[in-house]
Amino acid sequence: MTIKKTQIDPGKSAQLVAEARKQQELREQSYRGQALKMYPWICGRCTREFTHTNLSELTVHHRNHNHDDNPADGSNWELLCLYCHDNEHQKYEEMRFGSKKTAISTGNNASSHNPFANLKDLMNKK
Ligand SMILES: [Zn+2]
Ligand SMILES: [Zn+2]
Repeated sequence: MTIKKTQIDPGKSAQLVAEARKQQELREQSYRGQALKMYPWICGRCTREFTHTNLSELTVHHRNHNHDDNPADGSNWELLCLYCHDNEHQKYEEMRFGSKKTAISTGNNASSHNPFANLKDLMNKK
C-alpha cells in the first residue's frame, strides 16, 4: 500500500493566482473600455475633462459600489477622476459606518453632571 501525498505545487498555485489576477484585470479593462466608449471623458463630479494623455486618471465608479455589477447599458457606471472617486468612496463609508457612530457618541458627553458629587457632600456633612 502506498500513501499518496497530495502536495500543492507552489509553482502551480502562483500560476493560478496570476491567472485569476489576469482575469480580474481583463474584466476591469473591459468594463472600463465600455464605459469610456459610452460616456464623455469628463469627471462626473468636478467636470474635469480628460484626453488620451491623462486618461489613466479617469476611473470607472460603480454607482451601487458592486464591482461585479456591470450591466451592458452602463447604468451602474460613472466616470470619476481619481480624486472624486476617492471622495465618493469616503462618503459611502461614512454613510455606512460613520453616522451611526456619531449618533451614539453625541449622547451624554455634553453634560458633565456627576451623580456622585452630592453623595460626597452629604457624607462630609456628618
Ligand atoms: Zn473629479
Ligand atoms: Zn468606485
